[in-house]
Amino acid sequence: MYDVIVVGGGNAALCAALAAAEFAKKILVLERAPEEESGGNSRFTAGLMRIVYNGVEDLKTLIDLSDDEVARTDFGAYTAEQFLDDMARVTEYRCDPDLTELLVKESLPAVQWMRSKGVRFTAAWGRQAFNVGGRFKFWGGLTLEAVGGGPGLVDSLTQIARKNGIEIWYSARALSLLNDDQGVHGVRVRKAGKTAEVKGKCVVLAAGGFQANPEWRTRYLGPGWELAKVRGTRFNTGDAIRMALDAGAAATGNWSGCHAVAWERNAPEFGDLAIGDQFQKHSYPWGVYLNAQGRRFVDEGADFRNYTYAKYGRVILSQPLQFAWQIFDAKVKGQLRDEYRIRQVTKVVAGSLEELVKKLDDVDSETALKELRAYNAAVRQDIPFNPNVKDGRRTEGLAIPKSNWANTLDTPPFEAYAVTCGITFTFGGLKINNHAQVMSSDGEPIPGLYAAGELVGGIFWFNYPGGSGLTNGAVFGRIAGENAGKKATAAA
Ligand SMILES: Cc1cc2nc3c(=O)[nH]c(=O)nc-3n(C[C@H](O)[C@H](O)[C@H](O)COP(=O)(O)OP(=O)(O)OC[C@H]3O[C@@H](n4cnc5c(N)ncnc54)[C@H](O)[C@@H]3O)c2cc1C
Repeated sequence: MYDVIVVGGGNAALCAALAAAEFAKKILVLERAPEEESGGNSRFTAGLMRIVYNGVEDLKTLIDLSDDEVARTDFGAYTAEQFLDDMARVTEYRCDPDLTELLVKESLPAVQWMRSKGVRFTAAWGRQAFNVGGRFKFWGGLTLEAVGGGPGLVDSLTQIARKNGIEIWYSARALSLLNDDQGVHGVRVRKAGKTAEVKGKCVVLAAGGFQANPEWRTRYLGPGWELAKVRGTRFNTGDAIRMALDAGAAATGNWSGCHAVAWERNAPEFGDLAIGDQFQKHSYPWGVYLNAQGRRFVDEGADFRNYTYAKYGRVILSQPLQFAWQIFDAKVKGQLRDEYRIRQVTKVVAGSLEELVKKLDDVDSETALKELRAYNAAVRQDIPFNPNVKDGRRTEGLAIPKSNWANTLDTPPFEAYAVTCGITFTFGGLKINNHAQVMSSDGEPIPGLYAAGELVGGIFWFNYPGGSGLTNGAVFGRIAGENAGKKATAAA
C-alpha cells in the first residue's frame, strides 16, 4: 500500500511527488512513457516560468547573478497585480478567480521551494530580453528559466525525487481509478503488458491534457483539429481526465479551447525531443503573415508575442489548407529567434518581393504581391521601431491592421517560413478546489483524489500568458502533493 500514487511524470507530477514526500513515506510515480521519453510536455519546454518578482532581489533568491549581469540588465519587476491583470485580460475575464489568485500568489514561493530542493534557475536573456544600447531589458514579464530548459528541469526533478526515496515506474499506464463510496483507493495500471491494481491512500492526477488524442480534439475543440500537429508528448491523450470523470469528477473550463501556436508546416505529427520547441516560429511580430489566398489575416503586432502566440495557432488552422507564411526582410533578420536557424525549416529566400511571392508554395502570388505592397504603403514610418515596448509603429487604413512593430518589407534578401498549427495543450479539464482536491459533479471533493497541471480546467481560457504552464504545474503540484501527503499520513 502506497501513501500517495502520482499519475504522470512531468513537472506537475514530480512537484506533487516531492511535496508529498515531505509528509508521507511511500510515494509512487506512474509514468506512461518509457524512461527516454519521460517528462511529458514539461521535457519539451524551454523551461521558462512566469513568476511574480518585485525586483532583482527576488530573482537573486533563485539565480546566482553576478554584479556585472545585474549592471547590464534591466530586470524590471513583474508584480502580482501585473500577473493577475495578464491572466484576466488574456482569458477574457474567465479564469477561475480563486485558482488564479493562488497561481499568482504562490508562483514565487513555489519556485523558491523548487530551488530549495535543488532545481537550478537562470535568467532567459536569450529569448525574453532585447539588447538596446548595450543593456538587456526584459519586456514580457517572463524572466526565469530552468537551467537546461525542459530536459534540465525534468532530469533534475527526477533525480531529486529518486534521492528522496520516491519510486518511479516507467512505461506504466494508469487505466482507471480504484474507487468506491468512500473515495479513491488506488489505480489500475498496465505495465509491461500486465494489468495490476496498485493500492494507495491518495492519488494525484497529473497526466496532462488530451491534445495528443485526435479523436477527443475533434470532438471537443471542433472539426479540423485532427489536422493540427502536436508540439509535445504523444502520451497526453486525456487518460487521467477520463479516469476521473468515470469516478464522478466534474468537468470544467474551456473544453473547446487550447494553447496552439505557429509551428513548422512539415513537422511530424508529434513532438520530437531532438528538436524540442524549435519547430515553433515566434518572431511574427517583426514580419507579416500571408495565407494561401495571398492575404494577411491577423494583427501580427497586436501585443507582445507572449500574449498572442498561444491563440494564433487556431487562427492559422482556420486558414485555407491550414497554413501560412511568415515574411521578413533583412532589417529584422538579426532579431529572429534561434528557432529560425534550425535545419528543419520550410524556408524560401528571394532578392525581391516579386521573386519571393512566386516561391511561396500554395499561395496566390498575384494577390500576395498586392497585399505586401499595400502593407508597405500603410506603415507609419514616422514612428520609431522599438522591440522593447509596444511602439505604436502601425499601419493605417488596412482591413487587417498591424498595431505595433510595423516595419516595411523593403530590404533584401527577403525570407519566408511556412507554418501550420501546433497544439500545445488543451484548456478544459477537471475541477479542483484550493486544496487541489478533485471536485465531484455533485459539488463535493472526491476523498483521496487530487489533480494538478495541464489536466485542470478553469484556469486558462482562449489564450495564455507565456510561461504559465510550468508555474501552474509547480504551484498546484506542490499543493496537491502536500495535501495528499498530509491526508495519507493522517489516515495511517
Ligand atoms: C514545445 C513546448 C514548449 C513549451 N514551453 C513552455 C515553457 O517554456 N514554459 C511553460 O511554462 N510552459 C511551456 N509549455 C507548456 C508546458 O509544457 C505545460 O504547460 C506543462 O509542462 C504541463 O505540465 P504537466 O506536468 O501538467 O504535464 P506534462 O509535463 O505533459 O506531464 C504529463 C505526464 O503524464 C504522463 N501520462 C499521460 N497519460 C498517462 C497515464 N495514463 N498514466 C501515467 N502517466 C501518464 C505523460 O507521459 C507525462 O509524463 C510548452 C509546451 C510545449 C509542448
